[in-house]
Amino acid sequence: MEDRYGRQIRSFRLSITPKCNLKCFYCHKEGRNEEHGKLMSADEIGKIVNSSLEFGVRKIKISGGEPLLRTDLPEIISYIKNEQIKDISLTTNGILLEKYAQKLKDAGLDRVNVSLDTLDPVQYKKITAGGNIESVKKGIEKAIEVGLTPLKVNFLAMDCTVNQLPAIMDYCRKIGAILQIIEFIPMEPELKHHHVDVVPIEEEIAKNADNVFTRKFMQNRKKYVIDGLEVEFVRPMDNTEFCNHCTRIRLTYDGYLKPCLLRDDNLVDVANPLRNGEDIRKYFIKCIHEREPFCKP
Ligand code: SAM
Repeated sequence: MEDRYGRQIRSFRLSITPKCNLKCFYCHKEGRNEEHGKLMSADEIGKIVNSSLEFGVRKIKISGGEPLLRTDLPEIISYIKNEQIKDISLTTNGILLEKYAQKLKDAGLDRVNVSLDTLDPVQYKKITAGGNIESVKKGIEKAIEVGLTPLKVNFLAMDCTVNQLPAIMDYCRKIGAILQIIEFIPMEPELKHHHVDVVPIEEEIAKNADNVFTRKFMQNRKKYVIDGLEVEFVRPMDNTEFCNHCTRIRLTYDGYLKPCLLRDDNLVDVANPLRNGEDIRKYFIKCIHEREPFCKP
């Protein structure tokens, strides 16, 4: 199904918990700031994903909070697993990944994105309010070992992290990870000064790239190959190209369909209708109808 702007729906990003074991000062919490309603059960998440297939969803990303804090995560993955879903991935801070990587792989997870904004242990601790970078690195190693690949490192480009980029590139090249450079979205005005323009970074990488690909269905984002390292960019800010090619809908941890990360005024309750035994397809139609590019030309 297409929305009113002719954009197909292909990917579904599921937040499965608001809880996190880190406290990154910048976190956008997947656009659902306060703790609201009841968590969805694994079975409910499975049913909602199953219903989404009819509208074109073929890729699932599991997020949070920290999704590994849900002890029923393998069950959630096994409920989501479906022949029509081509890709189930998870975004995690990696702290608990070493312990759970094999279980997640066995449950049917395809790959992981691990958030890592710096390789400096002191800075990592500061950004995350106490996180131990060694646990993250061990988690990354384990995930690669069990085949949760291609593994992506999510690097948030901020004023305080950009100088880490060369080291992060070397690290990703060494371990065979894809590097995803993410533009910082300041959710509060007092965080605005952390924003850095990612365009010059992308231009520099483009200039030196050996190969460039366009990622269809992924907001037409570009992928560069530079000395064997794959580098992707996520630039959502003031980016009409990004919004024009967005194929993503979202599910909040408390069971609302969310047409756009950056808006909180057009959520569509789907978990309560499901609990009341309703046919939930009409809520997907409503959500897709509500979709509009956040950034219009
Ligand atoms: N806890 C998990 C993790 O660390 O990946 C999943 C949740 S976290 C919200 C998902 C992704 O959102 C991370 O890669 C993080 O870097 C990114 N993120 C968080 N706050 C952001 C912001 N203000 N702007 C851009 N990306 C952000």
